[in-house]
Amino acid sequence: VSAPVATRPVVLLVEDDAVIGENLTRAFEDQFDVRWSTTGLGGLPDAADADLVVLDLGLPDIDGLELCRLLTDKWPTLPVLILTARHDEVEVVSGLEAGAVDYVTKPFRLAELIARVRAHLRTTSSATPSRLVVGRVVIEADARRVTIDGDEVPLRPKELDLLVALAERAGSVITRDELMRGVWDEHWYGSTKTLDVHMANLRRKLAQHGDPACTITTVRGVGFRMEKEKA
Ligand code: CA
Repeated sequence: VSAPVATRPVVLLVEDDAVIGENLTRAFEDQFDVRWSTTGLGGLPDAADADLVVLDLGLPDIDGLELCRLLTDKWPTLPVLILTARHDEVEVVSGLEAGAVDYVTKPFRLAELIARVRAHLRTTSSATPSRLVVGRVVIEADARRVTIDGDEVPLRPKELDLLVALAERAGSVITRDELMRGVWDEHWYGSTKTLDVHMANLRRKLAQHGDPACTITTVRGVGFRMEKEKA
């Protein structure tokens, strides 16, 4: 019997389907410390210690989207990855707007889900400079803090990663592919809806916190550029 490794990430799985829950628990156990709840509200106490939540949206006791909102309101830096029915685009967008960092559609390949979980457990690359200043936007990457004229902009983890990716190359266009690979996963081959929703949230928050002109320009058909002086 080997001793538990203290540094293993804690993954909370909220899934009422017994077969899927058992399969995922077995698959995750190699790499993660798994807590599995078959109800939404039953999983809440474990969320406080979790490093990531895998959340099925169809739950018996609470609407999955409502639970997603609850989790991300209470723990703004906790990544929530939603499991959703295939082709339900409305549900996907609602989930991302409710604060989910990503989604996987059912039925899914285990390897893909595990790759996504690992990607979201990673923090910003250590190659990132600790302080980036673009116009009036100040990014303290180590502290995971963004301010405009001293006013803090409350960004979710992937919104901050997006901003860092754009700010590191301010003045240059970054393609959608580069952003998807850099901020999400190098093996990304899903929809780019995730990028669009996160970009919209990032722009809205920057606008709300003192950057109404928005420093991020869409370069049609190519990608995005953070303007150096426009702020
Ligand atoms: Ca379900």
